[in-house]
Amino acid sequence: MGPCLTPAVSPGRKAGCSCAPPLSFCSERSLMDSDLDLLVRLQQVDAEIERASEDLGRIPQEVRIAEEELASSRGEYEAVEHELEQLLQGQKDCERKKADSRALLADYRGKLLQIRNNTEYRAMLDQIGFVEQAMDETDSRILELMYSEDEARAKLETARMKYDRSVQRTERKKQLLQERASELKASLGKLEARRAELAPLVGVRLGRRYEQLRGAGRRMAVVSLQRGACGGCMTNVPPQNAVEIEQGATYNCPICGRFVVCSADLEKSIHGE
Ligand SMILES: [Zn+2]
Repeated sequence: MGPCLTPAVSPGRKAGCSCAPPLSFCSERSLMDSDLDLLVRLQQVDAEIERASEDLGRIPQEVRIAEEELASSRGEYEAVEHELEQLLQGQKDCERKKADSRALLADYRGKLLQIRNNTEYRAMLDQIGFVEQAMDETDSRILELMYSEDEARAKLETARMKYDRSVQRTERKKQLLQERASELKASLGKLEARRAELAPLVGVRLGRRYEQLRGAGRRMAVVSLQRGACGGCMTNVPPQNAVEIEQGATYNCPICGRFVVCSADLEKSIHGE
């Protein structure tokens, strides 16, 4: 790989600026430089760590959603169960009312036999009529409640099946999520170990630049040249620099500070070729 042809001139920002890392055009490094190659690998490991951490971080929320779904179908079941209890209680109340009416009717009929006065007799007949009418109404109410009870029992059965299915599904989901969490933790452990091996191998200057870029929210410190532009911020690279990048030179984007390399070399580096 030939020497970098880009002038090693700083575009003007001073070191210590809090909004962006210090910038400079490329040094003598090319992508074949082992330091930059290591940095690409480190950045790959960090990207994988980030993905795995995000996936792992989402698992408790997914468990909560599964539990909420279960609680919701349990709630539906309990609501129907309560409805049924109310209907059964209603029927008991009606039966009690009917028994009271029956006792009252027997009492009135007994009294009727002893009444000698016509007016009192008619009044008592009216009373008996009222009680009989009330008993008819109670019977109708009992029938209504019985129809409703049938409906509620059918609804309860449906809700119970739905709840049972929900219990099974939630258990399965939680089991899968736990398995996924274990896998992610294991792969995070391996990735962290890989990072611990790689990080000290990256040169101090590059390592610091990398951390600065990441600190500024730029996860990918080394990007490829994409259609003549920096693959990070998409700012056009001067044509001469683009040619040099394609020839293997490394270029520092003056806008975002990322290392811009040619895509074929980046691919090679990512895949460890
Ligand atoms: Zn850029």
